[in-house]
Amino acid sequence: MLKVGITGGIGSGKTTICKFFEVMGLPVFIADTEARKIMESSPVVRSKLILSFGKEIYLPDHALDRKKLAAMVFNSPLLLEKINSIVHPEVHRHFQEWYNRQDAPYIVYEAAILFESGFYRQMDFNILVTAPEEERIKRILLRENTTEKDVKSRMAKQWKDEEKKKLANFVIVNNNRELIVPQLIELDKKFRIHG
Ligand code: ATP
Repeated sequence: MLKVGITGGIGSGKTTICKFFEVMGLPVFIADTEARKIMESSPVVRSKLILSFGKEIYLPDHALDRKKLAAMVFNSPLLLEKINSIVHPEVHRHFQEWYNRQDAPYIVYEAAILFESGFYRQMDFNILVTAPEEERIKRILLRENTTEKDVKSRMAKQWKDEEKKKLANFVIVNNNRELIVPQLIELDKKFRIHG
């Protein structure tokens, strides 16, 4: 069964595109959602995170204090790398178990840092979702109670689309002008032929 990775910068619409794949009947694994679950539910991950970041990153009800953790790592690539090194292996293990349970022409794996993490190498094909920066900023400002400055500083921490394009096999343009469905049908045809 073919594995198709999908990624894109903040506000590019990768999660929205994944919903289309789901509607088309394809199994979709959202790595970031899984990572969030694991940080709360896995005793091994919890104790490793507490060891590195202190027990105050968990609230009294055992939920992760995401704001506190985000504030701790925001300007520290090293600390972010530390979290990833604790959480990613567990996400990948869950993904493998999930993959073994699927029965479909292909599956879709969505991750924000698919290329940066190197996990794209585990995929048969990788899709990059793109949209102009100003459009992406508009979407995030509509979605979240945040500022343009904050969105731009989050964007500055991600790889540029030019870098990601070099590693992507396909690009989906989600710029509010190109239609999404024809692009998806075209890709779906390709994946079914290869699968
Ligand atoms: P993030 O990494 O920030 O979670 P993402 O790449 O997963 O972003 P989405 O969550 O799919 O992006 O989309 C960001 C916001 O933009 C959402 O509120 C979504 O509804 C909206 N959006 C996505 N695509 C379009 C589009 N073509 N037209 C208008 N709004 C869109």
